[in-house]
Amino acid sequence: MDLFLQNHQYNYIVRQAKLVISTIKTCSDNQVVETVKYTALSKVLDACPGLSGEQRHLVERLGELQTAEELQVYMSKLLQCTIKFPTLTEPQLKRLFPKVKKLRIPDLSDLEKHPLTYFTWTDSATNKKYLVYYRQPQSDKKSSGKLIGIEGQYTSTNKTGVCAFCKKPGEAAFFSAVAKTRSSHSPDYYRSVGQYICLDNKACNVQITELDALESFIEDISK
Ligand SMILES: [Zn+2]
Repeated sequence: MDLFLQNHQYNYIVRQAKLVISTIKTCSDNQVVETVKYTALSKVLDACPGLSGEQRHLVERLGELQTAEELQVYMSKLLQCTIKFPTLTEPQLKRLFPKVKKLRIPDLSDLEKHPLTYFTWTDSATNKKYLVYYRQPQSDKKSSGKLIGIEGQYTSTNKTGVCAFCKKPGEAAFFSAVAKTRSSHSPDYYRSVGQYICLDNKACNVQITELDALESFIEDISK
């Protein structure tokens, strides 16, 4: 089967499927279980528009799950259909961040092992954080996929906060990037756009279930 799920969609389906299994384990009222299943399935289908018959059939197996073992099998089938992050190379990264003179190139070797919504690394010498996001081609094929690079300052907070991207609590870091255009109020300054995001970006990539916040952050910087 084609790769058709994006990382955040996979995460969302897994979250809903786990909810179904934990309800089955803890709730003896069949009607409640059926309602949770039905709601989970409709939420998942809403989050994955445009599925083909075969793809929908796979996703809809959520409704048949009964045990933790079946959940594992279901998750691994979905994972096989999840789009991997594009391979990145050093020249590509240099093109994404043309203004950075000495770009510290991160380890790119295990990039393909896990699906990711975004790839990020930090340069502790300069407190800079680099984020690469791959915007998937739109399903109407009007736009092709695109790699987007965002560079910003990075401050660890040693505090728990809610991450702007995945909306989960965890140790947060403040990431502030400079927008492409100057501030309308004081034309000498460039606008800065900042967000608290997970310090642990691997956890963030597992927790993220929608793209709205990440997309609007990128949008805001590109304005
Ligand atoms: Zn996060």
